[in-house]
Amino acid sequence: MNRKNSFDTVRIQGGYTPEEHNHASNVPIYLSAAFTMGSAQRGRDMAEGREPGFTYSRVGNPTVDILERRIAALDGGVSAVAVSSGMAAISNTILAVAEGGGRIVAHHDIYGASLDEFVSLAPKLGIEFDFVDDINNPDEVSKAIGPNTKAIYAESVTNPITRVTDVDRLASVAHQAGIPLIVDNTFPTPYLFRPIEHGADIVVYSSTKGINGHGNVVSGLIVDAGRFDWSSDRFPQFSEPEFTLYTESNGRSRSFVEAFGNEAFHQRLRCKFVRLLGAVLGPQEAYLELLGLETISERISKEVSSALRIANFLNHHEHVTKVNYAGLPDSKQSQLVSSLFPKGIGAILSFELEGSEDRVDRFIDATEVFHYVPNVGDVRSLIVNPARITHREVPFEFWERNGLNVNLIRLSIGLEDADDLIADLEQAFETAYRD
Ligand SMILES: *Cc1c(COP(=O)(O)O)cnc(C)c1O
Repeated sequence: MNRKNSFDTVRIQGGYTPEEHNHASNVPIYLSAAFTMGSAQRGRDMAEGREPGFTYSRVGNPTVDILERRIAALDGGVSAVAVSSGMAAISNTILAVAEGGGRIVAHHDIYGASLDEFVSLAPKLGIEFDFVDDINNPDEVSKAIGPNTKAIYAESVTNPITRVTDVDRLASVAHQAGIPLIVDNTFPTPYLFRPIEHGADIVVYSSTKGINGHGNVVSGLIVDAGRFDWSSDRFPQFSEPEFTLYTESNGRSRSFVEAFGNEAFHQRLRCKFVRLLGAVLGPQEAYLELLGLETISERISKEVSSALRIANFLNHHEHVTKVNYAGLPDSKQSQLVSSLFPKGIGAILSFELEGSEDRVDRFIDATEVFHYVPNVGDVRSLIVNPARITHREVPFEFWERNGLNVNLIRLSIGLEDADDLIADLEQAFETAYRD
């Protein structure tokens, strides 16, 4: 069979061959810290990379491996690495591209913990961030790139105001400068948007959110497009001899570029960062991720259609002063959205309430179908006041530019009946504005 399977087949079957696992129709959970190596010869062959196989679950686990293969196939990458959280995906990625120090150009409108890490922690590890105000302005981004810049970092759809990044254009700015583009694609998931098809080199996910979709696992994924040339002087870590790539026959240690070419990134990431810093994903979590992925298309498409209905409802409400949802037909980004996101931008939106913050508190306390939870991408619909909870760590200097204020409410739309969700919001408005 030569035909390449499409998304809906790969999300069910990708990366898994039942014949290799006692014909189990579901992916087995390999709850084993380590694996017998069989023979001294096989042990050596695996250790030196001549034979594939599993030895120790911090280095690789069969259940996790199937999740990695499935995500890589869905996103159009050559390989994926699963880690223990979205933040582990982001942290390991920036440490690997800017190993030994350097600069990264980023948008400041990013996930709160990512911004906190980039502003307050990464600089102490020798990685400085240059923040741009408009990630879709190629001139501004180009000007921020210097000789020591190692990458550009952006989110495809931002949180909570759903600003959309023109990934194609940003990728060409990055590649002209000889640096890779890293995209956090958590909000759209690969069902709505696949950054590698638009030129991104590395994609990171909090698969805690829509990929798993059931709010029961914390996990992260890093997908490598396998296209970027890491051999330039800007990235010496990929060209230096690596002891674990020692070949006995010629007594030499190869570099990651020598051994793996354009696949050097995911190989080094796995070997030096995930293996040594140790933030690996466990097999039970990987199994739940695989289970969640099986229904990703149906979940996200229903959630997107409910989110659009709810955004329209809010857009016409007398007590709403602003709706942030780039998927609305009258959004400033509607042209970019229709070319990049034909199936929608996702199930998360935010809006501002008229009046004092007291109305926000009363509104949240009055909702019954929406759960007050600091998470997104769940089958349950969730509500939160970002300025006080999820985005507390965003420094005040970024608030206005990132659309953050105390009147803002964020919704993550789940799989409940959309009429019930709208009725719940309607009664919350009545309670919040009763006097
Ligand atoms: C939640 C989230 C993260 C962090 O993921 P965790 O799994 O909570 O560590 C990163 N980026 C975005 C866009 C997120 O929504």
